[in-house]
Amino acid sequence: MENVISEWLRCPVCGNKTRLQLRADAELKNFLLYCPKCRQKSLIDVEDFIFNPPKTAVCRVL
Ligand SMILES: [Zn+2]
Repeated sequence: MENVISEWLRCPVCGNKTRLQLRADAELKNFLLYCPKCRQKSLIDVEDFIFNPPKTAVCRVL
């Protein structure tokens, strides 16, 4: 596997790590993110995910 920086995607509601891991060059559009912790669904967009400092995706809580 390539040694690419990756980071766990955090829930925009509670800030907890979800089970989704993103690479630094990941792109997601209108992705429905489910958080196992607070059981909320959030609609997220991730473009050019940057980790320095960790930039959260543009999130809209449903
Ligand atoms: Zn959550």
